[in-house]
Amino acid sequence: MIRFCRICRGWHDLAEAWPTGCLGHFAKGRGCEAPDSPQIIRDIDPYQAVGGDVANGGKPPKIGGRRQHREFLKRNNYVEVGNETLRPQKPDYGPEVTEREVRQVYERLRDSR
Ligand SMILES: [Zn+2]
Repeated sequence: MIRFCRICRGWHDLAEAWPTGCLGHFAKGRGCEAPDSPQIIRDIDPYQAVGGDVANGGKPPKIGGRRQHREFLKRNNYVEVGNETLRPQKPDYGPEVTEREVRQVYERLRDSR
């Protein structure tokens, strides 16, 4: 039985000892990747900030990259959100229905039992 080796991109016979230089094949996770392969993290897309920037006279700047984004947050004491737990919102009955109407309907239903 032969098995594909992710280190040397070749095939090894499992009946024979796995080559020492290819032992990384069995490493967990990303250890299988060739060690010299560069890890590329894509930069964030440019965006128009919503919050003002102290370094920009309080005007929202255009953010061009990850580093700019980080520095912008830092110097303005902004905190990136997105991982916080969401609290349930109060029910929104829309602009048409007032709280009084809701209560009236509730009382009508309760009294009609
Ligand atoms: Zn190999």
